[in-house]
Amino acid sequence: MSRIASVLIPMPLPEAFDYAEPEGMALAPGDQVVVPLGPRRMTGVVTELRDGTGGNRPLKPVLERRDEPALPAKTVEFIQWAARYSVDAPGWPLAIALRGSRAPKPRPERLVVATGVLPARQTPARAKALAAATAPMAPAALAQAAGVSSGVVKGLIDEGALELRLSVPAVDYPEPDLARPPQKLNDSQAAASAALAGMVEAGGYQAALLDGVTGSGKTEVYLETVAAALAADPQAQVLVLLPEIALTQAVIARFEARFGVTPAEWHSGVTPPRRRRAWEAVATGRCRIVVGARSALFLPFAKLRLIVVDEEHDGSYKQEEGFIYHARDLAVARAWIEGASVVLASATPSLETLWNAETGRYRWLRLASRHGAAQLPDVSLIDMRETPPESGKWLSPALVKAMAETFGRGEQTLLFLNRRGYAPLVLCRACGERMTAPDTDSWLVEHRYTGKLVCHLTGFSMPKPKACPHCGAPDSLVSIGPGVERVEEEARELFPEARVAVFSSDTVFDAEAARTLVAAMGAGEIDILVATQAAAKGHNFPNLTLVGVVDADLGLRGGDLRAAERTYQLLAQATGRAGRHERPGRALLQTYLPEHTVMQALKAQDRDGFVAAEMAERELAKLPPYGRLAAIIASGPDADALEGYVRALAAATPNAEGVEVYGPADAPLGLVRGRRRKRFLVRADRNVDLQGFLAAWRARARIPSSVRVVVDVDPYSFL
Ligand code: ADP
Repeated sequence: MSRIASVLIPMPLPEAFDYAEPEGMALAPGDQVVVPLGPRRMTGVVTELRDGTGGNRPLKPVLERRDEPALPAKTVEFIQWAARYSVDAPGWPLAIALRGSRAPKPRPERLVVATGVLPARQTPARAKALAAATAPMAPAALAQAAGVSSGVVKGLIDEGALELRLSVPAVDYPEPDLARPPQKLNDSQAAASAALAGMVEAGGYQAALLDGVTGSGKTEVYLETVAAALAADPQAQVLVLLPEIALTQAVIARFEARFGVTPAEWHSGVTPPRRRRAWEAVATGRCRIVVGARSALFLPFAKLRLIVVDEEHDGSYKQEEGFIYHARDLAVARAWIEGASVVLASATPSLETLWNAETGRYRWLRLASRHGAAQLPDVSLIDMRETPPESGKWLSPALVKAMAETFGRGEQTLLFLNRRGYAPLVLCRACGERMTAPDTDSWLVEHRYTGKLVCHLTGFSMPKPKACPHCGAPDSLVSIGPGVERVEEEARELFPEARVAVFSSDTVFDAEAARTLVAAMGAGEIDILVATQAAAKGHNFPNLTLVGVVDADLGLRGGDLRAAERTYQLLAQATGRAGRHERPGRALLQTYLPEHTVMQALKAQDRDGFVAAEMAERELAKLPPYGRLAAIIASGPDADALEGYVRALAAATPNAEGVEVYGPADAPLGLVRGRRRKRFLVRADRNVDLQGFLAAWRARARIPSSVRVVVDVDPYSFL
């Protein structure tokens, strides 16, 4: 009986295509195969096999099966589920899932081994080299180990006493050592840990929220959940998701301390050969712990038993380009598909997650206080209307005084400002022109280190001009507002003897740079760290006792759905860096809105009060988590074609109960890379099949070739 293989190709195509299975190929779902697509040969994955032929249109045959690990059935199921959820082509998430198997293989190394043949002429140096050649090693390593020159080793190779071999570096993901003693947990940690261990031991899909203030030991607790999952099943695999590459090193170090082995690391900073190794080890079940960024969620786990999403509230879990998804939401879906447990950890959980905990969908485990003697910092507000900084400065007298006291005690300060560069805006004093990118509706940010004006949206950059490009006035461009570089400048002026450093994605661009800076901070080699959110979360700096928030109101401007929630989370995390060890910490928030609910809640450290107020507002407006949102964003270089399309789409809006459609409207970012942008916003009741609605709607209007349409389910950005 001939069979038809449905093959999904890692490209934005709407569905899998059918091919004929050649005699004797004996394909199975998940196999990686090569198939013809038009004139091209493409690698895809078999999603389904069924009996039959193509009918009167003969199908093209599968060309070959690749000698690569197959994708496990649950991984394929997850990919298809994710595509449906995002109302997007399944080839997109497949492409993410296959990324590791496409990376180049690790290159073979040249190693020498002793052959047992003795050289014709023996010398003391040769004897030393042969004596040291007890195991295969690189020629240079052998020369070094024996204390001889590389010429000696080469001579021995020439004479046949040593033989050169090519060898692919061994994949080394040794078994985690579960017998190592865990930390002694305090009572509330032990209670949470026991509940989570019970959950993973029971097996099947289970979800929990590990809700504990900063420094309460959430990491300690979930390390024990990982231990329980690994112990419950000798093949079990665990995935730990982190929002920032900058956090991976610290978390990996804690895994090393707990289990004596290094977990596989998965993020954009990992070299392709290492990714390839990790991918294969995950697919074949040889690697049991993965610590990674959001895309690790698409790895082909052979037997995934536990997913931990650390800092689950973090906005960087939302992927906004290409395949749009929220890694926290997909983590829960993946756990459900795999029959695994998922633990969401945070000191400031998202409202969505809190709602799931409140309604009993997730178990809710709370850690109310910091571990040991450490106390939560004192938080106070600095009313910038009453005690403003000097003109042209950004740090108020009260904050400067606190910094001086902290520095005087030999302790560290973190100045938090979530803005890269020197100044967010450059304008001409003569004509008032604001410097914007040529093809994008956004201000150019001044970067003094590089002397450039940069568009943070598209990466466009240009040298800062000497004269205004608009009116030609010389030396008329002024920098408006502060970024981290400008605050650094001010801190250096105020405290010339202090060691000041900046932590932002411009100064810390990879895991190595992050590790270096975090280590320097931990070792007390920095007195004042000026940082964006890259440093505001997760880290533990024992001697950090003062956190100054330069502009606490920043995130509230523009006010989208989550502005208050996000500001609360970010500032609670940032202030939570202070006083994590024995020394008490304090946090000062500079604000022009001291009466704002967010500021009051931060000051009183009343998260529950803040959440209750915010939930009530959302409920009234039927917004998430009480309703669902989606956006459709259409863009194109041709204004008429775009306008025609959005009108046609608006006219084709299906009538559906419990759904409201707003728009089309010009997007706040109306022009990006020369493409105009229009948006629709959809609000739906929770019981509506929002994805079905969106798919049906989009299919009703023909998309002109110059127009690109993106569906964003549960949008986090409204720009
Ligand atoms: P969180 O993840 O909640 O921010 P961590 O797990 O990072 O908290 O814990 C904060 C600090 O307290 C860390 O330095 C951690 O090693 C320490 N700590 C937490 N719990 C314990 C414990 N039971 N025994 C020893 N140290 C602990």
